Amino acid sequence: MASHDVDLFVIGAGSGGVRAARIAAGHGASVMIAEEYRVGGTCVIRGCVPKKLFVYAARFSHDFADAEGYGWRVSAPRFDWPTLIANKDKEIARLEAAYTATLRKSGVTIVKSRAVLEDPHTVHLVTTGERFRARHILVATGAAPSLGPPIPGIEHVISSNEAFHLTSFPRRILVQGGGYIAVEFACIFAGLGAKVTLVYRGENILRGFDDDVREHLRQELEQQGIHVITGTTVAAVEKHKTHLLAHLSNGMTCSADQAMFAIGRPPNAQGLGLEAAGVRVAPSGAIAVDNYSRTSVPHIYAVGDVTNRVNLTPVAIREGHAVADTVFGGRPTKVDHTNIPTAVFSEPEVGAVGLTEAQARTQFAKVDIYKAMFRPLKATLSGRATSVLLKLVVDGATDRVLGCHMVAPDAGEMIQLIAVAVSMGATKADLDATMAVHPTIAEELVTMRTLTRSYGREAAE
Ligand SMILES: Cc1cc2nc3c(=O)[nH]c(=O)nc-3n(C[C@H](O)[C@H](O)[C@H](O)COP(=O)(O)OP(=O)(O)OC[C@H]3O[C@@H](n4cnc5c(N)ncnc54)[C@H](O)[C@@H]3O)c2cc1C
Repeated sequence: MASHDVDLFVIGAGSGGVRAARIAAGHGASVMIAEEYRVGGTCVIRGCVPKKLFVYAARFSHDFADAEGYGWRVSAPRFDWPTLIANKDKEIARLEAAYTATLRKSGVTIVKSRAVLEDPHTVHLVTTGERFRARHILVATGAAPSLGPPIPGIEHVISSNEAFHLTSFPRRILVQGGGYIAVEFACIFAGLGAKVTLVYRGENILRGFDDDVREHLRQELEQQGIHVITGTTVAAVEKHKTHLLAHLSNGMTCSADQAMFAIGRPPNAQGLGLEAAGVRVAPSGAIAVDNYSRTSVPHIYAVGDVTNRVNLTPVAIREGHAVADTVFGGRPTKVDHTNIPTAVFSEPEVGAVGLTEAQARTQFAKVDIYKAMFRPLKATLSGRATSVLLKLVVDGATDRVLGCHMVAPDAGEMIQLIAVAVSMGATKADLDATMAVHPTIAEELVTMRTLTRSYGREAAE
């Protein structure tokens, strides 16, 4: 009898797990994958994809408004939330089926159950009670929304998970959080016609992004009528007959139909039997891994949000792929976590890659900043009160572009492309030598001639 049932057991069929399972099977491994909820994971089922569908829905209101200045007369548009939810659910079901079919076609066995580790080689399926011995194990269980401390009335608060399934559209919503999920949902609900209050405990939204971007986007949100309250938390939520009443730490109250908190997503590392298997968990609650995503137990790996490195879908996918290549493809592969481009699908969007101005100033002796702020051409006839921010952070000593940051329509698309240049080590002179595409917003990236500011100091140790 073989000492193992499978070469690889993957726990969690999300972005990282699905990719690792499929590639490992392609390398000839026998693979089983367990999923306790729905195949596709957070991104497909209740993250990036349904969120972006909501973003598209929300933007139509801006398009209707903009159209008038271009001569269109559109009779008052009416939005129907149940139609959006039903159509979104249909698309997500189609995607889930497609992911399932792809896994099966690759020869991966899918088991619909919660899976926990019983010892370093045994996985226990909670639903069926079955046990499987695996030569290698990959933990790809992701992260889950946290509602924070149990303030009074926390049972009336929803997370992003529930926001995808609300039975009726909230006319007034309070969103707590300052990260990209909170900001995106604030814009989605505002675009769909809700009165939105965004409450965040920090000094400004989008911590970790470039300070100019944070300030610029905040002004854009406020111009659209989103009430942004910073330096404040929600202290309690009272349920009244027709609405919720939130009490804020600054003494204000806010009345709303829904309260959604998006204040963090701790790794899904609890109750997984990691102790029984000897897998070390970092003080942050994430599974500790090395550059190959290998845990403290050499045949057990972990990828994606459960490792809390860079919590984005393409990163989880890349890490999962690398594990499959390392273990079964004879190609030890590390994932480079520098220069990861990212977008916030706010209105307008944010795009960022590389170092912020503040980060560059701590790491480089001379930093040059190029900045352009202008009204986009489309806003001239539409009359929309909006402006674009484009920013380049450049190493003043070598001319290398260290970072690019923008708040602009389609910033997600633009940042993907400029990220190629930044990760290849492009210099400001390389950008300047590139011919512009006119008239576009992106052309400013290759025509920014005037230095906005320059910093010089002794290089950091
Ligand atoms: C609202 C929202 C919007 C987002 N938008 C973006 C975006 O625009 N771009 C982007 O790049 N990223 C986005 N993300 C982040 C992205 O979804 C995650 O980074 C990505 O899904 C992580 O992949 P993963 O494989 O680590 O985990 P997941 O995709 O979360 O998959 C983990 C899977 O494991 C399952 N599971 C957990 N425990 C067990 C167990 N014990 N047994 C069996 N199954 C288990 C879960 O049910 C889940 O299906 C968003 C996230 C959210 C919540």
